[in-house]
Amino acid sequence: MKQIPELSVVIPVYNEEEILGVIFARLEKALAGIDYELVFVNDGSKDRTAELIEAYCRKDPRARLIELSRNFGQYFAVSAGLSRARGKAVLTMDADLQDPPELVAELLKKWKEGYQVVIGARKTRPERGLKKLGLQLFNKLFIWLCDFPIPVRGGFALMDRMVVDQLVALPEKHRYLPGLRSWVGFKQTEVWYDREERVGGETKWSIYKLTAYALDAIFSFSHKPLQLTWVSGLVVSALCFLYGLSLLVLRLLHIAVVPGFTTVAVSLFFLGGVQLIAIGILGEYLARVYDEVKQRPTFIIKREFPPVEKA
Ligand code: UDP
Ligand code: MG
Repeated sequence: MKQIPELSVVIPVYNEEEILGVIFARLEKALAGIDYELVFVNDGSKDRTAELIEAYCRKDPRARLIELSRNFGQYFAVSAGLSRARGKAVLTMDADLQDPPELVAELLKKWKEGYQVVIGARKTRPERGLKKLGLQLFNKLFIWLCDFPIPVRGGFALMDRMVVDQLVALPEKHRYLPGLRSWVGFKQTEVWYDREERVGGETKWSIYKLTAYALDAIFSFSHKPLQLTWVSGLVVSALCFLYGLSLLVLRLLHIAVVPGFTTVAVSLFFLGGVQLIAIGILGEYLARVYDEVKQRPTFIIKREFPPVEKA
């Protein structure tokens, strides 16, 4: 049986060959004096990421490589890493060092004080323009929609072994990790920091991926869209009823009403639109139910380095 390290650092990595050297050096410095292991999860990179990490693992036995069979996405990679991490506490962080590893000492301090989840919460973030606007809009909408409070400013997080075991045991295939992390409960706290620029390379999240992920977060953690379609149906019906009533009153008062094309056309398109939106929202939930029912594995691990000994 291998010795259990105090801290595991889980790092999802996707096509980051140009910055890996900087990451290794900075982590070594920031984690000096801590009993740690590094769990790199290669999320189907197409460049030399796996090769470089493997070479590093050969030099430093504290580092390990988990390779997924394809690109599953950051949160699946993190889930895979969590399932393989052995530490008494586990930190999840991005490979691009936007979340400074130097904060680890402070996070560990909180953990030792008895908090089981310590979230590194972003005071500021470097994104600008449309992306920043989108992220802010999502945060506001999500807080409003969500059935229970989820800190949307969370960047990286340190979790106690108990929390990690619970997260790993969750069978859900749609894994909005900040949400699941809140859902499992335990004693949680935040440490605030300023999010830095990437140390190099480009973001691996396209606007399309981000939007899909934002929708996933909403539909996985809120029933409000369903309730809203119900409410919109009610509002539209009430309006139609009032309109019908007013037409009746006009008729009784012998005021001639010329049947207008506009009314017919607008109500037709409006109702059609409302119905399509409602069906779309139903479909989003149904697709998620379907995904869960299929019971496919959440991720597939192709290879580990060093290879795990079979019991
Ligand atoms: N990442 C991943 N799989 C993906 C996309 C990203 O494992 O499909 C990793 C990436 O290598 C990085 C982290 O997830 O370590 C965060 O990605 P990125 O910095 O591109 O996201 P951003 O900070 O722009 O939101
Ligand atoms: Mg980043």
